[in-house]
Amino acid sequence: MIKDPQPLEIIRDVYNTRINLLYSKKAYENPRIQWRRLRFLNIISSILKPIIRHTSLFPENMRWSLEVLIGKSMKPDIIWSLLPIARALDRYAQAVFDAADNKTKPLVWVEWCLNPDIVYAFDAQPICTEGLSSILYFKGLDLNEYIIDYGEQRGVPSEYCSAGKSAVGACLSKQLPWPDCIMTTSHPCDTMLSSYQSMQYVTKAPMYVLDTPYWDDERALDYYTKEMWGLIEFFEKHLKRKLDFDRLRQVLEESNCTNELLMEINEMHRATPCPGSIMSNIFAWSGRIIGMGTSDITESTRRLYDITKKRFDQGKGVIKKENIRVIWFDVTVAFYPIVLWMEEKFGAVTLVDLLSYINSPPIDTSTEESMVRGMALANMNLTMARQFRGPIDYFHRDLSRICDEYNGDCVIIAGHVGCKHGWASVRILKNEMKKRGIPLLVLTTDVFDQRITHEQQLKDQIEDFFINNGLV
Ligand code: SF4
Repeated sequence: MIKDPQPLEIIRDVYNTRINLLYSKKAYENPRIQWRRLRFLNIISSILKPIIRHTSLFPENMRWSLEVLIGKSMKPDIIWSLLPIARALDRYAQAVFDAADNKTKPLVWVEWCLNPDIVYAFDAQPICTEGLSSILYFKGLDLNEYIIDYGEQRGVPSEYCSAGKSAVGACLSKQLPWPDCIMTTSHPCDTMLSSYQSMQYVTKAPMYVLDTPYWDDERALDYYTKEMWGLIEFFEKHLKRKLDFDRLRQVLEESNCTNELLMEINEMHRATPCPGSIMSNIFAWSGRIIGMGTSDITESTRRLYDITKKRFDQGKGVIKKENIRVIWFDVTVAFYPIVLWMEEKFGAVTLVDLLSYINSPPIDTSTEESMVRGMALANMNLTMARQFRGPIDYFHRDLSRICDEYNGDCVIIAGHVGCKHGWASVRILKNEMKKRGIPLLVLTTDVFDQRITHEQQLKDQIEDFFINNGLV
C-alpha cells in the first residue's frame, strides 16, 4: 500500500513548482516581454529538439511539457494565444486554494461533461474532479499513475475510465478540497455515474444528479430543463443563496462568445491545408473546463481564432508540408502528445478530435427561462455527452458529417479502454468506414495511463497503419 500523502499535498506541489511558472503576471501584462520569451523558447527548443526527443536524456517529469513545446504546429503565435488559459489556470488554482483554506466561497465538484457556468452564477467555486489528471501531467506521468493506483488499491474497479479512477483516487487521498456540494449527471458513461456515487459516499456532500434524457427531441429537452430547475433549487437550498440571474447572463454571454469562436476554428480546420493546430484546440477545450464563462478563456479563444483565420485567409497550413489529413474522432491520448509526433514524423495533421469538436448552440439570454433551457441544451451537447448519452447513432451522426466535410485521409480511434460503449460499437464503425472507403485504425489505449499501451507501441501501430494504407 502506498504511503498516504498529506491533504492537498500533491496538488499544492504541482501548483508551486509548475503552474505558477507557466504564468508570470509581469510578462503577461507586457506583450513585448511575452513575445521575447516565446521567441527565445522557440529558438532554444528547435536547437534542442533532437536531444529532447531522446527520451533517456530528460527526466520523465519534464518530457511532456517539452514535447508539447517543440511540437511542429505549436508555433510561438499559437503558444501566445494560449497564455490567457495559463492565467485562467493560475486564477482557478488560487481560487480553489483560497476557498479551501479561508472558506472564501463554497466549493462545488462538477463532473467534466457539465458546464460549470451555473456555479459561478451562484458565486461558488467549481472544481472539475476529473481535470486533476491533466494538471498532474505538468509534473510527469508518475503522479497520475500514483493517484490511479491509490484508488485501485482501495477498491476502485480497474475497468473504470481512468479519468474516473483518478478522480476517486484524488478524493480518497484527499488531493481535492472537500466539496460543499456535488453536481453530476447520468451521462456519458457507466464510470461517471458510478464514480460519483462513491465520491458522494466518501465526502457525504449533498449531490445532485442531472438525469440526462436518452433522446434528442423537444420532449427530452423539456425534461432536462426541468432537471436544471431542480439543480437551481438544490443549490439555493445547500449553498444558502439565490441564483443571481444577472451574473448568470454575464457568464453565459461570455460562454456563447467562446463557443462561437471555437466552432468557427473547427470549421476552418476543414480547409486544405489545415490552418490550425489540434493541440491548441485541445488546450482550449481544457480551458473551458477550468474557466468557461470567464474573460480569460474568451480572450485565448479570440487570439486563437485570429491566428487561425489569418492562415486560413492566406491559404497557409499550420505546418509547411501537410501529407496526411487525420480525423481523430475519439478522446485524445493525454499521457503523450502523439498528434504532435504524427506531424513531425509524417506530416500528418490532425484536423479534428472528439474533445475539441465543439457543437454548442448559443444560449438565448433574454429571459430566465430561456437561459435555463439553453444551459440544458448546452449540457446535452458537450463533448462525450453529445455523442454517448443515447444511441450510438449520435456518435455516427457527427463522424459522418466530419468525414463528408473535412476531406480526411483516414480515421483513428484511440480505443480508450474505459469507453466500453465505444468498444461495443467498433463493428458498426468498421462497416461504416469500409463503405466510405476510408482507412480506419482502432488502437487500444488508456489515454491517461501509459501502462496499458506505451507511447512506443502506439507509434509502431500508427506507422504500420500509414504504411499499409499507402499514406506515406
Ligand atoms: S473518456 Fe469514455 S469512459 Fe471516460 S468519461 Fe469519457 S465517455 Fe466515459
